[in-house]
Amino acid sequence: MMKQIVDIITKLLFSGKDRAFPVPVAKVPAAPKKASPLVSEKDGYFVWDKGVVAPLSPHFSTREMTCRCKINTCKEQRISKDLIARLEKVRQDLGEPMITTSAFRCTEYQAQLRASGVNTVVAKKSTHELGNAVDVVPKSGMSDKFEPICAKYFESIGLSTKFLHLDLRPGFKRWKY
Ligand SMILES: [Zn+2]
Ligand SMILES: [Zn+2]
Repeated sequence: MMKQIVDIITKLLFSGKDRAFPVPVAKVPAAPKKASPLVSEKDGYFVWDKGVVAPLSPHFSTREMTCRCKINTCKEQRISKDLIARLEKVRQDLGEPMITTSAFRCTEYQAQLRASGVNTVVAKKSTHELGNAVDVVPKSGMSDKFEPICAKYFESIGLSTKFLHLDLRPGFKRWKY
């Protein structure tokens, strides 16, 4: 008796066009999410190729840390992980977004800036070339409270009326542009 009922139900359910509902399709489990393969980490630096857009931290991405040049040999980009971590703290204390006006610079771009007189650091390799510096301004513009906040996390600060240069060199340093 039981078998007969089961047979009838099975026939009703799976007999071609009279099928009561579509036969379920087995779901393929989604592939596990991997970290972005476009940004790698090397000796304390984030490294990526120019053109790659990926987050580096909650508030900063490769886009704003990439070299601003238009030189076609400019490929590999780098920025210090420590620098990004400190910037996040500044961002948190500031309570508003910051605009990065310059971050990593390739050697060729740095040479162009030196030649044009924009950047007068000649003898030493610029901290921007090393991926150890960033020029930033609060989104709402420069204010007196910006430098003291940055000074909590950066010892080396270049002062401009348009931005602050922050880099990882130890020891209290202040200079004007
Ligand atoms: Zn460049
Ligand atoms: Zn700078």
